[in-house]
Formats: sequence, structure tokens, C-alpha cells
Amino acid sequence: MDTTETPTEKLKVLVVEDEDSIRDGLSDVLVFHGYLPEAVETGELGLQRALEGVFDLVLLDVMLPGLSGLEVCQRLREAKPELQILMLTAKGAEDDVVAGLRAGADDYVTKPFSVRELVARVGVLARRANGLRRIDGQFRFGPWTVDSEGLRAASSDQEIDLSTREVALLHLFSREAGRVVSRRRLLEEVWGMSNVQDLETRTVDVHIAKLRRKIDSPSGDSLIETVRGAGYRPRVLSTASGAAGAGSP
Ligand code: CA
Repeated sequence: MDTTETPTEKLKVLVVEDEDSIRDGLSDVLVFHGYLPEAVETGELGLQRALEGVFDLVLLDVMLPGLSGLEVCQRLREAKPELQILMLTAKGAEDDVVAGLRAGADDYVTKPFSVRELVARVGVLARRANGLRRIDGQFRFGPWTVDSEGLRAASSDQEIDLSTREVALLHLFSREAGRVVSRRRLLEEVWGMSNVQDLETRTVDVHIAKLRRKIDSPSGDSLIETVRGAGYRPRVLSTASGAAGAGSP
């Protein structure tokens, strides 16, 4: 895994962490690896700065006095769907991880974290912040036309907002219609992880569940089938044949 890649254009990172030593340490590490960090110590300040400033990435501690990291994450996600958010969670607090992902975090790092791991995860999100622009213009998935730059999708009667991650998921699914895609592959290709742990496959499930709520019609089958023990299979929907994709158990 490449942990030393330096972005060509400095990416702006907001660090929200109440512990002085961790906050300073994070800032130093980020500067060293070519990022432009700004650090604040409360959730209130973090939210304010993230909303008024232009940041590519937020490193957000969950346990903050006052406004919690989860609340900050939720509000940021609503206001800025394209912003990459990396949560800092406490060791053993799996509930925080799940809650963080539900609140819209893109990834998490467990405290105490190694600098190497942190830099690797930041690098993945930074590449995504840049790299998503490489998914060209528009593509189709089921009834949806996905606008990868506008982070939106439209069907004949609906328009929805998508996150960068959701666009990347749909892009992969659109290429693999009818084939099973494993959680591991999704973590590798969409999340950029190279050493997938068991807990992290839950990350995929949380995001797929959220994506289904956006793209599936409440009455029909999901556009993304769950294949037990294997992963997910994006449904083949043929507009030419009414029978395609229907009725498979
Ligand atoms: Ca804290």
C-alpha cells in the first residue's frame, strides 16, 4: 500500500479534536505528508469552520465535549454531501463505528491509531476527493441516470442526491450488472482498503442499506440483491424485455 503519496495540490483538512496532544500530533503528521490542516477543539467550532470554509476532508473525533462528533458528522453530511469525513473512534467502541457510518462518515480510525494507518486512510479519502472526477459525466444504473459530477441521479419521476461514495458504488455496480460483487472487492475498489478486516465488511452493509433506501422503489425488489455469504448482485434491468430481472428468488 502506498502511504507516502503526496497530493500535487495541497488538500485542506479540518481536524476536530479536543485533546491537545492528539490535535497537535495530527496537524504535524498532515503537514509532513503535504496536506494543509486547520485544527479546532470543539464540535461547534468544527461545524462552523467546515460549513464556512472549503475543506476536502474532515478528521472528526467522536467524543467531543458539547456537540458530539456524530452530530457534527450528520449536519455536515446534509450540508456537504461531497465532503470526505474520517471519524476517530475509541478502541472497542463498535457502536460508535456503526453510528458514525450511519451518520454519514466515509471511514473511521480507531484510537489509539498508528500514524501509518492514519496516513493511509487519509490518503484513500484524499485520492477519492480528487479521483472521483475521473468517473466521466453520466452513466446508467437500472432506471437511474447518474450524474457523477453533480452527485445526483434522476429517473423518469424522481431526483436524488448521492454522496461521492454512492456514485462510486453505483459506477462499479453498473459495470457488474448480473454478477456477484464481494464485500471485499467493494472495500478494495470503492473504499480503497488493502487489508480488509471482518468488522469493515459491516461498513459495506451500512452503506448499501442507505443506498437502497435512495434508489429502490418501495414496492419492488431491490436493484441490489444480497447474495448470502457472497456479496451483492446488481440486478440486470432490460428496458427491452419486461421479464428480465423479475421473479428470481
Ligand atoms: Ca475526544
